[in-house]
Amino acid sequence: MNKSKTSNRGPASPGLLVILSAPSGCGKTTIVDRLLKRHPQWMRSISVTTRLPREGEVDGTDYFFVTDEALKKMDSRGELLESARVFDYYYGTPKKFVEEQLKQSKIVIMTIDVQGTAKIKASVGTLLPMMTIFVLPPSVKVLRERLESRKTEGPEAIEKRIVIAQDEIKEAGWYDFTVVNQNLDQTITEMEGFIDQVQKRKE
Ligand code: 5GP
Repeated sequence: MNKSKTSNRGPASPGLLVILSAPSGCGKTTIVDRLLKRHPQWMRSISVTTRLPREGEVDGTDYFFVTDEALKKMDSRGELLESARVFDYYYGTPKKFVEEQLKQSKIVIMTIDVQGTAKIKASVGTLLPMMTIFVLPPSVKVLRERLESRKTEGPEAIEKRIVIAQDEIKEAGWYDFTVVNQNLDQTITEMEGFIDQVQKRKE
């Protein structure tokens, strides 16, 4: 069932910003890809990052890969909704795209870290219609296995990501919803349920 269909009982409901945080290795890319496949009218906010593309990542699809200077310039011009240093790189959310999509009553999904979520909540939390979802791994052991199996980071980087993941997980409590990504289909169903619930509350 298409849960994002606009009601024909009245004017289109305003859009909804769905902020998703998930420690590295929790399956956020797969989750978002699946949600967008099931709901092609939902939009994904593409972040800018100073990190290099991983194998298979495409500029303008996965991220906008930019230099430190370019990201700083965007930030100083007020073009980012938030920006944060994550691991050894900077990441930021372009503001214009999100605002335009929300104006068109779209559901916009963004995957950002805990710091970015806190910044958006503090700055525009009462101005933009939004909800936050934290995706938890079934266990730290599973998280480690996932990070190791994707072979994109070496042992040192994996250890760093696990330490950061454990810190991030401590913040899950202040998110509107949490979901344990044990089984992808079930995770998707639960997330669609959360989004549906918030959409209905707005009607
Ligand atoms: P990765 O480099 O593995 O794609 O992402 C590393 C972390 O950066 C993830 O937690 C991801 O959610 C976060 N991230 C990606 N884009 C943004 C962004 O625009 N802002 C913030 N604050 N974090 C981001």
